[in-house]
Amino acid sequence: MSGFKGLAVPGPTNMPFEVRRAMDVALEDHRAPDFPEFTLPLLADLKTVFRTETGHVFVFPGSGTGGWESAIANTLRPGDRVLASIFGQFSHLWVDMCRRFGLKVDAIDCDWGTGVPLDLYEAHLAADRGHEIKAVLVTHNETATGVTSDVRAVREILDQLGHPALLFVDGVSSIGSIEFRQEEWGVDVAVAGSQKGFMLPTGLAIVGVSAKALASRPANGLPTCFFDYQDMLKFNADGYFPYTPAATLLRGLRASLDMLLDEGLDAVHARHFRLAEAVRRAVGAWGLRLCAQDPRWYSDTVSAIVVPEGVDANDIIKSAYEKFDLSLGGGLSKVAGKVFRIGHLGYLNEIMVLQALGGAELAMRDVGLSFEPGSGVGAAISYLSEPGADAALAAQ
Ligand SMILES: *Cc1c(COP(=O)(O)O)cnc(C)c1O
Repeated sequence: MSGFKGLAVPGPTNMPFEVRRAMDVALEDHRAPDFPEFTLPLLADLKTVFRTETGHVFVFPGSGTGGWESAIANTLRPGDRVLASIFGQFSHLWVDMCRRFGLKVDAIDCDWGTGVPLDLYEAHLAADRGHEIKAVLVTHNETATGVTSDVRAVREILDQLGHPALLFVDGVSSIGSIEFRQEEWGVDVAVAGSQKGFMLPTGLAIVGVSAKALASRPANGLPTCFFDYQDMLKFNADGYFPYTPAATLLRGLRASLDMLLDEGLDAVHARHFRLAEAVRRAVGAWGLRLCAQDPRWYSDTVSAIVVPEGVDANDIIKSAYEKFDLSLGGGLSKVAGKVFRIGHLGYLNEIMVLQALGGAELAMRDVGLSFEPGSGVGAAISYLSEPGADAALAAQ
C-alpha cells in the first residue's frame, strides 16, 4: 500500500529521524580511551530524566522484562515476601516472574481498569509488623488498561508506617513521558525500556536504582551475573561496561535524551497530557468509554477503549491494519476482544494523534459501529484548538 504505515500502539513507538540518523554509524570500539567521553554524560543525563541524584541509572542490553529481573535478583533472597497488585497484563507478568524466582508474593487481585489499591497496600503493610515484606511492587502505568497509579502515595504509606521495604516501580510506559520522580518518591528500583518513551528500537533495559537499593544486596541473595548491579557500577564509574554494550543503541539514546531535555521534561509531560486528553475527548464523542474506571487513573501514554457488547475489538484492529495500514493496540488476556488501545507516547504530535483517531473511525465504521463519522476527530480538534488546552495541565 502507498503511504506511511501508522503506528499507534503503546510501544514500540514512533522513532524520530534524529534518533535513526544518530544510529547510522559504524560499529565502534567500546574499550576505546575516548568512549567514556560519550558514556559518562549519557549516564548523567539519564539521571536527569529519572530525576534521581543519589541513585544510578543502569543501561543493560535487554528489554523492560530484563529490568524487572534485575530488580528482583539484585536485592532479594529466595523465599522473600513481596507485596504486589494485579490489574492488567503487565502487573500480572511481573508477579509471575517473582514467583518463578521463588519469592512469596502477596498479590492483590484488582479489577482491570483500577490502579494500585492504596487502602489495601496500607492495611497489608500495617499488618506486617515483623517487616517480612521486603519489596513493594507498583506498576506505574499499566499499559494493558491505560491506568496510571499513584506512586508517591505508596511511598507516603511506607514512610508513615516506618516500613523499610524497597519500592519497585515498573515505569516502562511512563518514564520519559509522564511525571516520574525517582528521588522524591523514594523509588528504589525504577524500570524502563528503550522502545516506549525513549523512542528507540527495543534492546535496552534502563533501570534507575537508589543508593539504598544498591547498598542492600543481601547475603545469600539470588544469583546475578548478566544483570549484576555491582559489576556494572564498577565499570560504569569509568564510563565502561562489564561486557559489550549496545553502543549503537546508546548513540540513539544520546539523540533521544537530547530531544527530551531540549523540549524540557515538564513540556514533554504537558504535551502527553494534551494529546491524551484529545484522545479522551474523541472516545467520549464516539459514545464509548475507557477501560480506566476513574479520571484519577487516566493514563497520558495509552488509552484502552472499551467496545460495545457484541463487538469484537479485534475486528476493529484487523480492519485498521489490513485496510488502512494502521496498527492499533489489542486487548491483552482478560480484556482481549473487549478493548482496543491507542498508544499516545513518545515522538508524537497533534497530526499523528488525529491520524490514529481518523484511522480508528474508519475501522470502526468498517465493522459496523454506529457513531457520527468525524465526531471523535472533531472533538479532538475542538479541544486542541481551545486556547486553554495547556492550562488544563496546570489545574490537574
Ligand atoms: C512494555 C511493557 C513491559 C514489558 O517490557 P518489554 O520491553 O516488552 O520487556 C513491562 N511493563 C510495562 C508497563 C510495559 O508497558
